[in-house]
Amino acid sequence: MSHPKEQSKNFVNSLDEAHSATQAVHVGLQRGPGEGVGLPIYDAVAWEFQDLEHAAHIFATNDGLSYSRIGNPTLSALEARVSALEGALGAVVTGTGQAATLLSLITLARAGDHIVASASLFGGTVALLTSVLPNFGITTSLVANDAESIRAALQPNTRAVLVETIGNPALDIPDFGAISGVTRTAGVPLIVDNTWGAVGALCQPFRHGADIIVHSLTKWAAGHGAALGGAVLCRPGLDCSANPLFSEHDREGVSLWQRHGELAFLWRARQLGLSQMGMVLSPQLAKSIFQGLETMQLRVERECATTLALAHWLQSQPGVTQVAYPGLESHPSNTLAHRYLPSGPGAVLTFNVAGGLEGASRFLSALTLIRRAANLGDTRTLAIHPWTTTHGRLGEAARIQAGVTPDLIRLSVGLEAPGDLQADLRRALDAALRSELVSSD
Ligand SMILES: *Cc1c(COP(=O)(O)O)cnc(C)c1O
Repeated sequence: MSHPKEQSKNFVNSLDEAHSATQAVHVGLQRGPGEGVGLPIYDAVAWEFQDLEHAAHIFATNDGLSYSRIGNPTLSALEARVSALEGALGAVVTGTGQAATLLSLITLARAGDHIVASASLFGGTVALLTSVLPNFGITTSLVANDAESIRAALQPNTRAVLVETIGNPALDIPDFGAISGVTRTAGVPLIVDNTWGAVGALCQPFRHGADIIVHSLTKWAAGHGAALGGAVLCRPGLDCSANPLFSEHDREGVSLWQRHGELAFLWRARQLGLSQMGMVLSPQLAKSIFQGLETMQLRVERECATTLALAHWLQSQPGVTQVAYPGLESHPSNTLAHRYLPSGPGAVLTFNVAGGLEGASRFLSALTLIRRAANLGDTRTLAIHPWTTTHGRLGEAARIQAGVTPDLIRLSVGLEAPGDLQADLRRALDAALRSELVSSD
């Protein structure tokens, strides 16, 4: 699974003892005389073999470079860095977050198997669970985001439980301690989509009982609205031997668990996702994400501070009927936010504007600084109307159950000066209020 670059004694592998701020700028680079201080982009599809025996050895073991779909040193550097920041055993990076979620699930489940997932998940994940995986014989129970509901939904064929660090758009935080108590007792791996936890900068799910973490690196990791990527990570010591995919014997009478032990999950994920299904990330984008990680902690700290300030300010603004942010004491997840996201509960808030759908429409059209776009974790503040976009395909009742109403606006807060954001929001709120006056005439 490793290759010569990883084995090189010059490769800064995890800096286990160092703080994450230090890991974020050092892990994954070669060092020593003549080594560049930036990450090289290995823009090659294939690597040359010494001779027939060398080629046969690499094909049999993947212990060395052969073909970029299977392994590339630029991607290995990103894997080492992401892995260090989350305290993982290792990582597999993928072309998108969507691919990472799918890969984590199909590494553990096949036709006839079952997944339990929080109903408060990213829309793309819900689509995967409810309209894609059932076609391949994998079914999902979507349940409330609490330990008791999850326990009640477990079946003998349940192979994974999936939750998100902060639900979207309800901004609800699961009680990781209670949920991992249930999954550990049942022997079912807990997968956490920690995209909103910013690769450990805000939340570290392995410390709270997660077994597997998935990321959309597109968001706060890459951080500049310019690169798509994803990652699947596994905690040290994960025992997959209870899952038939890992305990069944192959043609040689040996199971994946016997062959690879705690590395079995990552080995299967790499084989399935990269070698066989081609979910691979490009080296150019890996470099962009690798650089994004160097400033991620600084960015999210600033963005969380601005988000909290805006949340307080919005509460007192005419034209705003309600504000939701887990950093507000009024939010139902405020206690869990302090417990699991001590550096700040993310850089996303939602609020309801006066004037219903038309008010929301006037509000969005009146924004001049804040961009109307669907991404998260950009350096720029982005606004979206979930009712007509991210949740637009759900029926009305399902949208309202998910907390999505026609007057709801979601903001992903960037790095602008808070005063400039307030000025833009104030102007747009005035536009929403004008619509209310018009419609009540
Ligand atoms: C964006 C997102 C994804 C999907 O990631 P892509 O990189 O867009 O494929 C998955 N989960 C969460 C929580 C997200 O915000």
